[in-house]
Amino acid sequence: MLKTHSCGELRSEHIGQTVTLAGWVNKRRDMGGVIFIDLRDRAGKAQVVVDAGRSADAFAAAAGVRGEYVVQVTGQVSRRPAGQENTGLPTGEIEVLADRVVVLNTAKPTPFPIDRDDAVDETVRLRYRYLDLRRERMQRNLVLRHNAVKFIRDFLGARGFIEVETPILFKSTPEGARDYLVPSRVHPGKFYALPQSPQQLKQLLMVAGYERYFQIARCFRDEDLRADRQPEFTQLDMEMSFVERDDVLNLIEELMVGMVKAVSLVPLAHEQFPRLSYAEATERFGTDRPDLRYGLELVDIGDIAGSSAFRVFAENVAAGKRVKAICAPGCGTYSRKQLDDLEAMARAQGAKALAWLAIQPDTGEIRGPIAKFFTVDQLIALTERLDAKPGDLILIASDSKAIVHNALSALRTELARRLGLTDEKKLAFAWVIDFPLFEEAMEEGHFAPSHHMFTAPKPEHIPLLDSDPAAVLSQQYDLVCNGYEVAGGSIRIHDQTLQAKIMSLIGFSMEQAREQFGHLLEAFEFGAPPHGGIAPGIDRLMALMAGEPNIREVMAFPKTAQATDLMADAPSVVLPRQLDELQLAIKAKS
Ligand code: ASP
Repeated sequence: MLKTHSCGELRSEHIGQTVTLAGWVNKRRDMGGVIFIDLRDRAGKAQVVVDAGRSADAFAAAAGVRGEYVVQVTGQVSRRPAGQENTGLPTGEIEVLADRVVVLNTAKPTPFPIDRDDAVDETVRLRYRYLDLRRERMQRNLVLRHNAVKFIRDFLGARGFIEVETPILFKSTPEGARDYLVPSRVHPGKFYALPQSPQQLKQLLMVAGYERYFQIARCFRDEDLRADRQPEFTQLDMEMSFVERDDVLNLIEELMVGMVKAVSLVPLAHEQFPRLSYAEATERFGTDRPDLRYGLELVDIGDIAGSSAFRVFAENVAAGKRVKAICAPGCGTYSRKQLDDLEAMARAQGAKALAWLAIQPDTGEIRGPIAKFFTVDQLIALTERLDAKPGDLILIASDSKAIVHNALSALRTELARRLGLTDEKKLAFAWVIDFPLFEEAMEEGHFAPSHHMFTAPKPEHIPLLDSDPAAVLSQQYDLVCNGYEVAGGSIRIHDQTLQAKIMSLIGFSMEQAREQFGHLLEAFEFGAPPHGGIAPGIDRLMALMAGEPNIREVMAFPKTAQATDLMADAPSVVLPRQLDELQLAIKAKS
């Protein structure tokens, strides 16, 4: 080894020892006759003092050193002179008096400072990702990720899970996204698909008798671009045999609590994860991935509003539509412009308008364009139902259930931000269960699975598949945290007949099903055990635990929102010879 110690590990107990360090020059200060070098490696920083009086050679070498040079220093650990300790640094009590300085490599000036967490344009960070990763914040994040994954492996290993790798070159898997395709040179005209998840393979491992499987699995989905989405991402993919829903939920809850306590920089809001049905989550929060760090719940006021003299409400209620409201504490003095902004957000979610009632802070008088359509009793009933106080603002949306929920959910998130309700860092996990088996809206006359087509209906709802498929609830479960879905899974169908029936309801003919999933359907004929699983998204969990706003901050080499790699310049054109070998030609878009 070119070093005996790490820079960051030196403490007062090393005083008197001769050590050799190697790392990067974080900072260099020339005090005339004495040069101070902050030497940095992954473990931290140590102060090196190069005194011409101690070693002229070391001083001469240090004189030419610049930021980010790679340097080896041999010297004696010594206590810093009284008054010069740095309590903000773990190595702040000591310094290393250099006897020898060797420049192992030079470095060009870096495009952004490495020694500070300055805001740097992200395209520059991604272009020079290896320098960005050299910064403390990114090293902290990747170490956190390593520790979390190690915790997961140890936790599951101790509970009888085995890690199995499944292929990356595979066949189309149905997670509802577009596949990434890889052309086969050996079989011209044929393609592999990169797995959207190891879903089928983990179910086949259950048929194969492995009982408890997991994998830190890379998944690939060619979805529409979105700011915080990556074409490839990592899941903790798991599957268990002979389990019921609560077995999976309890195990994952124990894993999450243990992992957060062991590695997270952000603490848990609560150790027992609340369980909400899909219906309850959407009614109370307008979404199936509610942020439970704060209240601001949606409240149904259909009965009060429907009997008011405001025609739109009365007509909507008569037509089976909804009227719901949210109370924003202390926002009763919002300006016209602030209210317009909120209305614009509601409109962006499909709402035609946003009604409001402002309770005056001093008089308690209720103002707003629609106030005059309500009787005094109705206004009192409204404020009581919403627990609204003087100074509060009541926002009301009326439309179809979906529009009302989307609009008020967006407003809830925005109000929480404005009111600073998410400033305190904490992780509020919750389970959402009892999802409908199928999406509400039909796709081309067929049902679309809410989760994926292998999710089992609740046993007592199986008869409804014939009479009222839209009413069937499933054994799907999602884990949500701070407004994100961080895991999804289900108890699976293990019966070939039931699987075939679901496929037909979602518009797969038996022939199509056999072509795409023949292997799975066939496997189910050879003694498939009851099984279920889940797949927590590693990237999002790491971002939450690191307190980072986006998943790129916890991935070593992420792609941009445009799905490009700015450092390696991918995707890129290939040689004509490569296309020839694959018998492919590039065709202009018609
Ligand atoms: N494969 C599923 C997904 O990626 C998770 C699961 O059902 O286990 O969403």
